[in-house]
Amino acid sequence: MNDILGMTVEELEAFFKEIEEPRYRAEQLAQWIYGKRMRSFDEMTNFSKKLKQKLKEHSYIYTLKLRTSQLSKDGTKKFLFALEDGELIETVLIKHQKEADEIRNTLCISTQVGCQMACSFCATGQSGFERNLTVSEIVAQITHVQRIEKLKINNIVFMGMGEPFLNYDNVIKAVKIINEKKFLNIGIRRITISTCGLVPEIKKLADEQLDVVLAVSLHSADNEKRSAIMPINKKYPLEKLKEAIAYYIEKTNRRISLEYAMIKGFNDRPEDLRKLLSFCGGLMVHVNIIPINETEQGFKKSEKAAHFAASLKKKNIEASIRQEKGSDIDAACGQLKGKGR
Ligand code: SF4
Repeated sequence: MNDILGMTVEELEAFFKEIEEPRYRAEQLAQWIYGKRMRSFDEMTNFSKKLKQKLKEHSYIYTLKLRTSQLSKDGTKKFLFALEDGELIETVLIKHQKEADEIRNTLCISTQVGCQMACSFCATGQSGFERNLTVSEIVAQITHVQRIEKLKINNIVFMGMGEPFLNYDNVIKAVKIINEKKFLNIGIRRITISTCGLVPEIKKLADEQLDVVLAVSLHSADNEKRSAIMPINKKYPLEKLKEAIAYYIEKTNRRISLEYAMIKGFNDRPEDLRKLLSFCGGLMVHVNIIPINETEQGFKKSEKAAHFAASLKKKNIEASIRQEKGSDIDAACGQLKGKGR
């Protein structure tokens, strides 16, 4: 059976050719699914009974099952979806204030059931790894939320459950579907892929020339400290990570986002700032400082975010402070578990 939601535009057209239907029918199908947000062939009123039957015989439109949703005080909404095999994933909708006459709806999507990276501050990392998501399971998070919330998603961040680079091929294919004008039509520069620092894949993405935004979770510019919270640092320490980031910037001429979750007494001391400034030296980066809220692991919120941001800017390094959203419903960075309440 052909999985329509997992197809690129070329594959969809090839499928219609295979079932001996004209190309404009493929465009109509895309309109129904991505434009009009339908998810069953029966809803497609300009398709004949015969065509609907043919499509049902050869293909299907993947759908997620919504288990629960929770709304945060700040408007952030978290969705718990069940997959066909019963596994659970979470997706988070973040609504932003009007910017230049536009409401920005960001969807934080998952790429794996669980995660094997085991970052100590992350609930996903603590709950083990089950499997990679398929392309349609990734794309369906967007189509489903657009449909039930009756809104247009215009920003995608691959920052939900899982390490996107460990599901590299499916993530890249999903990006193409998300960006495709005839499909979800979300601008490539409004798609962010976040990694905990997988060096070979950072270089591989640089060679793709895809123009997405790359975000790297740094969290400490000290090898010992970073290894303590992010085991991946033992395999790819800061020197190798910096080299990969420099390669990415050189190849793409694009700025990288460095995520720095600030933890009181851990990575907010003067020597941490010195090391961060030194790591950023010579790199075209934007440092996103996230003063994390108190966590189950006992981490405390730091008061030094503004000082760090000002010090970075003084050295001509772009920096901003990002407030955590949805932490009251466990929807903030590192809080997704894939479990209902
Ligand atoms: S922070 Fe990201 S990479 Fe690390 S364990 Fe959590 S989901 Fe995995």
